[in-house]
Amino acid sequence: MSSRFAALKGVEDILPPDSYLRQFIEDKARSVFGSYGFGEIKTPIIEHTDLFLRSIGETSDIVSKEMYTFTDKGGRSITLRPEGTASVVRAYVEHSLAMRPSPQKFYYMGPMFRYERPQKGRQRQFYQIGVEAFGVAEARMDAEVILMLMLHLDRIGLEDLSLELNSIGCGECRPAFKEALRDFFAPKLPELCPDCQRRFETNPLRILDCKVERCIEIRKDAPLVTDYLCGNCRSHFDSLLKLLGVMGVKYTLNPHMVRGLDYYTRTTFEVTTENLGAQKAVAAGGRYDGLVEEFGGPATPAIGFAMGVERLAALLKDKAAPPITDFFVASLGEEAATQALKLASGLRAEGIRGELGYGGSLKSQLRKAGKLGARFAIIIGEDELKSGLLKWKDLKKGESGEVPLAGARKLFA
Ligand SMILES: [Zn+2]
Ligand SMILES: [Zn+2]
Repeated sequence: MSSRFAALKGVEDILPPDSYLRQFIEDKARSVFGSYGFGEIKTPIIEHTDLFLRSIGETSDIVSKEMYTFTDKGGRSITLRPEGTASVVRAYVEHSLAMRPSPQKFYYMGPMFRYERPQKGRQRQFYQIGVEAFGVAEARMDAEVILMLMLHLDRIGLEDLSLELNSIGCGECRPAFKEALRDFFAPKLPELCPDCQRRFETNPLRILDCKVERCIEIRKDAPLVTDYLCGNCRSHFDSLLKLLGVMGVKYTLNPHMVRGLDYYTRTTFEVTTENLGAQKAVAAGGRYDGLVEEFGGPATPAIGFAMGVERLAALLKDKAAPPITDFFVASLGEEAATQALKLASGLRAEGIRGELGYGGSLKSQLRKAGKLGARFAIIIGEDELKSGLLKWKDLKKGESGEVPLAGARKLFA
């Protein structure tokens, strides 16, 4: 083994300026979600493994292949969260949030973990920003959540997005659809991939989600879930489409879209982009009207979505501008260096951003100020100490002048 440490495969350090871009995405999310009345929830990164078996589904790829699961020193089976919804629903039930005024609306942001083959845009530790709204069955809430998502994507400056919508029905209408799928796939079973042969028994809906080309080809003419919706699911979906129409939201219907998680009901949606090579989802979500009850809470309709921060960041790569440095203080000699520290601290306390020069000649310090893109360079050398007048240069405009030490604040007026 080499003597140097390296990060694990599939995890990465996020350094400036990339971290500024992440902050930008998060700040816009806080502001947009806040305007919709969503509050931040911070849940633990570790949970009991059972939580995910129960919510995501034991037959899902996430649970069967991708979870980071380990036994802790107390002999408990623990899993690093592979997604955010299960924890939020657990918290909703655990803290009896159904007793609070409805709807209860939350957003979260943070790392998730899935043991997948690392590739471009897919890390084993990846970041999601997500929201969950509890307590409203009305389609107007679906519309609100989708509008909020689109507003956030607009605020961070994403373009060329498409919103895809589907309804995958409820407990009442899904059995008939599953039967129709089994009837359709039964004669083609030997041609399906081994995973799908298993899915045929456990949950045929998942065949519709398979990424294997042969399976995609075989399922081209599979029955459509939207042809099997019960009356209530149909009218819920129609109301949503009508509301989105009224709000001028463009969408396409994608009756082939089933989400990879067991808990979804009725509305499912994805926002995709073609600017990442192959068409890829940057955000996805849906209703999960049965999950709170499944977790032992009162029957509570709910809807949410999650965004993949790595994908958003990849789309915004060119916009990763570090914050502007307002000033740079170059100094020579111990006394001047102390004055520089005092000056910088006073300016920083007023919210003005800046840096101190360390070491080297005044000239080399000023070169660094230029590299940083600082707006003002302020110079404190022996002469300036004696006269009490500081030299300044506006590095953007090329102007320069002198200002008394106590008046340096005025440069930033
Ligand atoms: Zn239904
Ligand atoms: Zn398959």
